[in-house]
Amino acid sequence: MMKTMGLYVHIPFCKKKCYYCDFPSYGNMEGRYEEYVCALEREIENRGRFCEDWQISSVFFGGGTPTVLSIELLQRLMTKLKESFYIAENAEITIESNPGTIEKEKADALYKMGFNRLSMGVQAWQNRLLTTLGRIHTIEAFQNNYQLVREAGFDNINVDIMFALPTQTLADWKETLERITKLHPEHISAYSLIIEEGTPFYEAFQKGELLETEEELDREMYHYAVSFLAEKGYRQYEISNFSKTGRESRHNQIYWQTEPYLGLGLGAHSYFNGSRFHNTYELDQYILAYGEIYLLEEEKEAVTKKAAMEEFMFLGLRMTEGVSFDSFFQRFGIEMTEVYGKVISHFVKSGLLAQTDKGIALTRRGIDLSNQVFTEFLFDK
Ligand code: SF4
Repeated sequence: MMKTMGLYVHIPFCKKKCYYCDFPSYGNMEGRYEEYVCALEREIENRGRFCEDWQISSVFFGGGTPTVLSIELLQRLMTKLKESFYIAENAEITIESNPGTIEKEKADALYKMGFNRLSMGVQAWQNRLLTTLGRIHTIEAFQNNYQLVREAGFDNINVDIMFALPTQTLADWKETLERITKLHPEHISAYSLIIEEGTPFYEAFQKGELLETEEELDREMYHYAVSFLAEKGYRQYEISNFSKTGRESRHNQIYWQTEPYLGLGLGAHSYFNGSRFHNTYELDQYILAYGEIYLLEEEKEAVTKKAAMEEFMFLGLRMTEGVSFDSFFQRFGIEMTEVYGKVISHFVKSGLLAQTDKGIALTRRGIDLSNQVFTEFLFDK
């Protein structure tokens, strides 16, 4: 039987950088798109040679904003992937996009070239908040792009939204949730804003020009979203992810279930053949390496059994169904309770974990204090 894994393809370009973003992406770099794609095509080809006995169950074009690339460049990448890897017929093939980067021709072309899932970052329904975040689009542009991709044939759409934004009120957040659910996307990701070092938001925060949202309001917004989305038929299957039945993201689940995946492109991370590594984060170096794997890979490390157990627990516990005793035993040949019995009973007693005869999962309170729980599953704290 063939082994299965996911592919992640990183496109590190955006029209313009948002003020809060610390993802590996560059704004205003149109001049470099083509040379990047050439290098990426070579990497796809070279990596594909080592993956002949792997079937691909999910492909995810992430960024950045992959849809800033022209139809021709995206088509070239898709063709190269199909030539170089064995992509399962029913594979989930996702592309991330941002409003303002899709017109009718591109929406139709994306669907025709084989993407069957589209993820769109809208973040908030209020134009004043979109301006504060440094987003390139308005809510009207989002509505237009959403309609275009539906008309193109996409029947599996994710919408990213954010809470705990500067000056965002609970009423704003409720309006965002209401308006988004009225569009009936199949999947919604709802993340709270983290002010990351090295971003314009961080500088403004340091100068006192930007205030962090109070923890209490952050939690109120989160809890409201969880119950509101449940009412609207979205099952929460992970701390920040909600979907209609059967529309959970395969790509996301590969990460949380610590299954293998290969990252292609600038700075892309991989978990493959028992090792974790990532490609160089330097754009010039990536392009110059021209797909030569030994020039791209950095910090390659075999994942020890201990590290694999830790990851299995803290990534697995992100999912609402938690981690099962059986799957732990199948993966590691030892009972979960033998390794983590003390930690588990401590958190069950304090109400942060719920235990059944099948496994363990975070409780509602455990989700709010998830980082505290995850830390305790590390061997060297
Ligand atoms: S669109 Fe996304 S990746 Fe691009 S700058 Fe904004 S937050 Fe970052």
